[in-house]
Amino acid sequence: MEEQLDVAPVGYLVMDHGLRIVQINKTMLEMTGLETAPSHMHDLLTIASRVYFQTYFIPSIMAHGAVSEMYLSMKSSKGPIPVLMNTRKRNGLFECALMHVPVRNEYETEMLNAKRNAEQVSRATAEANRKLTTLLDEVEYRKSELNVLNNRLKELTVTDVLTGLKNRRYLEEFLPELIEDGGTALLMIDIDFFKKVNDSYGHHAGDIVLKNLAEVLEAAIGKAGFATRVGGEEFVVVLPAINLERAEDLAEHIRERVELHDWPYQPITVSIGVAQGLKGHSISEMLQHADAALYESKNAGRNKVTVAS
Ligand code: GH3
Ligand code: MG
Ligand code: MG
Repeated sequence: MEEQLDVAPVGYLVMDHGLRIVQINKTMLEMTGLETAPSHMHDLLTIASRVYFQTYFIPSIMAHGAVSEMYLSMKSSKGPIPVLMNTRKRNGLFECALMHVPVRNEYETEMLNAKRNAEQVSRATAEANRKLTTLLDEVEYRKSELNVLNNRLKELTVTDVLTGLKNRRYLEEFLPELIEDGGTALLMIDIDFFKKVNDSYGHHAGDIVLKNLAEVLEAAIGKAGFATRVGGEEFVVVLPAINLERAEDLAEHIRERVELHDWPYQPITVSIGVAQGLKGHSISEMLQHADAALYESKNAGRNKVTVAS
């Protein structure tokens, strides 16, 4: 072999069809650390590379006459070494140039590790995002649940437990707005001689009468307004956007319905005071007017409607 080829900075060998090595240069021997030239290509390859070589090299060289950049793991005295091999078919033999590529190998390993790390980070991020989304959904759900409970709680604070009507707190909260709009009328309603019901039939009977009265009031008012229970046996009916005449008619209608109702223990009647809200009136002024009119109804013999003067 020419000296230049023998010591070229690349391994060089020639194989025949049976993969027997017929020529090998010094550089190649130095690369592997072998003292004597190996007789067969298999002697140079690790087991894994040998399998790969068998299945890939022969078919490729036969089909194309050359094999480029075949990456192999080669045996050496210092353990396996990575090499890249270029082969060309010439004069019925295979000429191979082999380049030791430890740096490229390290670089590839690093790239592979970096890729694996990136994939792991990406998977962890996706998982964290998924958990975050679940948590956010949970928070949204809890928030809406809390809203429902808060609304329910608010509803309870403005509701009279016995009758289910709105209570005085509700009246105080919403009446100013209604008075502001003008044209709101109030009916102050008080049961006549209610004490007698309690005294004769007991407190429980009194409660049943109060519940029944709430129903009678709601049925009589219909869509004209709403009833509230503001005290023991005192109710205030709110009639928004109504004139005094119609408010008086409705009060009379209520009085009559109560009188004619089929009561469980004894006949019941109510006295009513009617007051019209004017712009600039406060709630307490309006309630006082309605109360004064109610007082007049009581004084006039009860079971009466009086319009505040
Ligand atoms: P008047 O015609 O003057 O209104 O006579 P009255 O007996 O209705 O008036 P009074 O204010 O003297 O009595 C009201 C009674 O209502 C006294 C109280 O025992 C009763 N009462 C107040 N709240 C309740 C309640 O929640 N349940 C029951 N059963 N009775 C109640
Ligand atoms: Mg009373
Ligand atoms: Mg009473």
